[in-house]
This record gives sequence, C-alpha cells and structure tokens, in this order.
Amino acid sequence: MKFVAKVCGNEVGQGYIHKAVLAKQLPQSQLWIGPQHVGKTTLAYNLAFQLLCRQAPTITPCLRCEHCRMISRDIHPNVQVILPNQNGSIGIDQVRELLGSVPQSNWYKSGRLIIIEQADTLTPEAATALLKAIEEPRLDCFWLLLSDQPDKILATLRSRCSQLWWQRVTDATIVAHFPAAKPYVSLIAGLPGQVEQYTSTSGATTLATINQWIAFCLADTYYQRLTVAKKLLPKTFKRSDLINPIYQLTRIAHDLLLLHYQAPEHIHAQTAKSALIELQQKTTIAQTVLAIDILKKIRSYIQRPVQAKIVFDYVTISLYR
Ligand SMILES: [Zn+2]
Repeated sequence: MKFVAKVCGNEVGQGYIHKAVLAKQLPQSQLWIGPQHVGKTTLAYNLAFQLLCRQAPTITPCLRCEHCRMISRDIHPNVQVILPNQNGSIGIDQVRELLGSVPQSNWYKSGRLIIIEQADTLTPEAATALLKAIEEPRLDCFWLLLSDQPDKILATLRSRCSQLWWQRVTDATIVAHFPAAKPYVSLIAGLPGQVEQYTSTSGATTLATINQWIAFCLADTYYQRLTVAKKLLPKTFKRSDLINPIYQLTRIAHDLLLLHYQAPEHIHAQTAKSALIELQQKTTIAQTVLAIDILKKIRSYIQRPVQAKIVFDYVTISLYR
C-alpha cells in the first residue's frame, strides 16, 4: 500500500486530517463514513505514513525511512488492520487478539494506528470489547473505524468516535485525476477506488457491464430480467451491494432521456451508445421519466435498513414494464 500524494476529491475532509496531524490534535477514535471504493482505506494508510514516518507529524512523508518502507509493504507492526472473517463479520476473537498484541517496545513509542475495515460487521460482543478498549485512552493509539453502513454499528461505539464523512467525487474531478477514466466515468460513479477496475480491464468488459444493465432494462419477461441480474449481482447480496447497480441504472436512464431529447453528445456512457439507442427505440420518454423516478425512490430506500432482496425485486418488476 503506497502513499498517495493527492487522493482524489474530498479536499475538505483531507484538509481537516492534515491540519489535525500537524497540530497533533487528531481525535484518538474516529469513524470514517462513506461508500465503498470512495477511498477510505487509501486515506487510512496515508494517515499511517503521516503519523509514523520518521519525519512525523508530516503530511508529506519521506517514503524512504524504515517506517515508510514497512507501511508500504504492509508489515509495520504498529499499523494493524482488522477485516471481516470468512463469515463476513468481525468476531470477538479477532478483537481479543488485537488487544492482546503489543508491538515490540522500540516500535511502540512511535505510535499505533488500528484500522477496522467494515466496522459495521463487528459482532455485538466484539463491538463492546472494542468500545472498552477505546474508552481507556492511550496517548499513542489511534483507532480508525471505516464503514459504509454506520447505522449498523453499536450506537455507544459510534457515539464514542468523532465522525468524518467521505462523499462521492464529481465526474469532473475523477477525469481530472485520471484522464484514462473518461469513457467509463458513468460506471465509476464518483468512486475513485473503481477507476483501476475499469481502466485496467479491457473496454470490452466494461462495455459488457453496461450492456448487461441495458439488457436488464430491455428484458421482455421478469424471468429474463432475473437471469441477467444473476450475472451482475453476488449470490447473496447486501443492501450496500445494491448502491452501485442502482446508481448505474440511474445513469443509464439519464443517458436514455438525453437520447430521447436528441442530445447524444451529452450522454455519459459513450462506449455503450449503440445499446442505448436500441433501448431508446423500445422505450418512451414517459417510461424513462418514470424509471428515473422509481430509481430515485429506491435510492432513498437503500439508505435505510431494508432487505436488499425485496428492494431488488421491486426494481425488477417496476422498471420499464
Ligand atoms: Zn518516512
């Protein structure tokens, strides 16, 4: 994991962190909230460099000292990352192991950063154990909880952390940072973490994704539609897995509306223009406006705790009937 000199977007949040690092006023326990792939993990590692580099506190780590080199190789004893286990949750054992582990004394004095990825997957017991540890402040220990579903985190743990929100980045910012991402910007959907996925895979894969979502809209029967969806969604999907498909479908519907209004030069998914034209020929303006409305409604549903399957079934039966 390398230090990224200029993380894409969210300048206000980054500015706040930089100021806090330099003033040595970084809150000891923080909850970073934002959609998956918005850059939370990259920002968390950046913070590790800034806190632990031999020149720390600094916002421009040297990247050469032993601390920087170890963070780059993900082997720094004072940077600990917890991820959900194969059951998809962070259990009490993982938290106990973390709390029991004390880095070697000569490293210890340089500070410690504990990153809890997908903190919303902490089991209640694990969250309680973590809360206890956070409540006993140690000057050299920073806790960083990352989540895209903060409402699922134990309320007492959540309220103990200072909260920082990371937002989707505008298309213009994505393109300014990653010019190669321009044709795919609608699929990247404001999430810098998705840039590599789209620009490194062949354009054909990307096109296939857009085309499959368009095929989803075009399907004549619900069965056909579900078959297409099966290829695009994981077997068992969570509410958060729906956010990107719904975002992408919304973009497709907006593009479609632009085609209906004879403005093809403004569509986002230029790479899928021919498939979009096919969809345009089979749909009316009224249907497209209705689809945008439905998708907007669904986007507000998935902000709340609802069953992903039920929401997606609603999308399947109501879109482009
Ligand atoms: Zn360094």
